[in-house]
This record gives sequence, C-alpha cells and structure tokens, in this order.
Amino acid sequence: MIISSVDSFATKTLATSTNQISNLIPLSSITNSTDIFEISTKENFNLVNPFYTETYIFTPFKFNTLSSLFNKTKLYRSKVLSYIKNKDREGFASWSKNISAKDLNKIISNLSNENREKLISILLQIEIPEKTFETYNSESVKTTKTKILKALNTILANPYVAGIYADVLSKTTIEIGGDGFYNWGAILKKVSLTPEAFAQLSDDDAVAILSHELFHRFNDEYGGAEGANTEGSAIWIYKAAFKTKLEVGESWAEAMYGTKKFYEDINWGNLTIEAPKNPSPKLIEVYNWMQTKDPSNLPWDSEELMTEYYNKYWKDLKRNVSWEEWLAQADEANKKMRYGEIICLN
Ligand SMILES: [Zn+2]
Repeated sequence: MIISSVDSFATKTLATSTNQISNLIPLSSITNSTDIFEISTKENFNLVNPFYTETYIFTPFKFNTLSSLFNKTKLYRSKVLSYIKNKDREGFASWSKNISAKDLNKIISNLSNENREKLISILLQIEIPEKTFETYNSESVKTTKTKILKALNTILANPYVAGIYADVLSKTTIEIGGDGFYNWGAILKKVSLTPEAFAQLSDDDAVAILSHELFHRFNDEYGGAEGANTEGSAIWIYKAAFKTKLEVGESWAEAMYGTKKFYEDINWGNLTIEAPKNPSPKLIEVYNWMQTKDPSNLPWDSEELMTEYYNKYWKDLKRNVSWEEWLAQADEANKKMRYGEIICLN
C-alpha cells in the first residue's frame, strides 16, 4: 500500500497508533525515490524517506516521535526544491493542488531569493501572440515582462499568499496582449495584460493588478463565487495581504458591494450576490483567512446574510461620489455589519 501524501499518512498514523515505539531500525540499504512513505504490512511501518535516503521500521510506534523525525515542512521544502532542480512545472502543479495554502505559503515565502527566481522562471508561462507586436511597441512588451517578473518576486515572497500564487501560476498562462487586464476563465486558464498599460504601472500597482487577475484564476480552480464577490475577493486578497495599513472604510464588503454599486451607479449593469456554490477546502481556508483581516467581517459563505447586509446597509449608499466620500459611507456600513446597529450614548 502506497500513501502518497504526508497528510494522509499522518491521518492514518494517528488513527492507528496507540503504543510506544519499541523498535527503530535504520535500513540504509533500502531506498525508494518515488514515494515518501511505504507501508509494508498492517502493523509494521516501513518508512522510506527519499530525501534522506534512510529507511526506518517501526513496530508499533508513537505518533509524536514519528512526526519529529519526519518534519512536514522539511519534506515539503525538499519537494519544492526537487521540482526546481528538475524544472518540473507539471509536477509542481499537480502536487501543490493538494497542499494547504498555509503549508505552501510557509515553504514558498521562505525560499532564498535565488530559488524563488528559479521557481518563477519555471512556473511562469508567458504567451505573446503575433498581434501584440503588430499592435503595441516592442519596448512596452519588454518592460511588461520585466515588471511581471518583479511583481511575482514580491508576491512569492509574501508570507500570507506566496504559496497560493505559486500554485495558481503553475496552472495559468499569462498573455501579454489583448485590450485591458482580464481573466479568460476556467477553460482557457489564461490572464491577459495589455503591454502599454501594464508597462506604465508603478511597482505596487503591478502587484495589485497581477495578484488580482491571478486570484480570478484561483477562484476558477478552487470553487469561488460568481457575481460581485468574484471581483470583491480578488480586490480584497491584495489589500489583506499587501497593504500594511488599510484606508478607513476599506474592507472585503466595500470591495464586493462597492463593485456592485459601481456597476449599478456608474458602469453598466448588475452583479449578483452569491456565496461560493462548491467551495474546495483550499478556498475555504483562504477565504477564512481573508475574513480574519476584514473590518466588515463579511459572511462570505452565506448568501442570505450577505444579501441582508447589502439591502440594510449598502444598497442606498451613493457610489457616484469621490473615493473619500465613498469610503466615509463604507466605514459606517462596515461598522454596522461588524457590530450591529448599536448607538453609543457617551
Ligand atoms: Zn477583476
């Protein structure tokens, strides 16, 4: 029986271990470079660690001792380093899909600058259609490439989101071209960045745009919501992870309802309020983290509550005003969402 991930191994181990380790035998002669752990019999665990090329037999064992021997972070780090060494984009993409955001963030954000650059060069898949060179000047294409690399260096060093974005990057093509900044959706797995616009962005804005478009891809891959929160979540992840100080009034609700109001009051249409229909464990993990940073405490998993709050606190606000005036209104609404309509008398 082969167990391919540490998590399922740990679960299995926890469920079956009751006794102390009575036997611990390193068998340096046995190696297995394809799987992390191999269970040889029901009760005797034959642990093969490809990164240290040493094998231990436990009969029976204690989980705590086991976990200190096989530190998950160490193993994951070794995995990532081997993908870097083998320039294995596909391998990284299928592995990272099933690793938690927290574990990935830890490993990727702690890579050395050299390894981070190598990883980016492996994961980044850029596409430049002929039409781009016919439409835009080649200097802006070159600058856009440089700016993408620089922004990714910042994003993949951020402790809150480095792993989330490395994972998404391994499943996305970035097209330099098109007309604007946008995501092509779950089937094409592509985002477009228009070179002349992207080349002019400040470094911070380049991080904001790239992390935004790539987060649309995250939502595609992991079961994000349709409607207003497609935009709301992609705006909020950037603010939650990269802004050291939020402006008064900024929140996840502001990002979501503000976009909805923007469409209604200024732009052209209507965005629905929806909760994710089939959220994956990774989506739930990341959204819950985003909620911990959110002054409005948006109930992102309840369509009913999000609709109620919109109707009560946001619907009648005016979006077609200056950013400052809008944020002042949003600040009030955030507070009502978080604390209820409490009137303070002193
Ligand atoms: Zn967007």
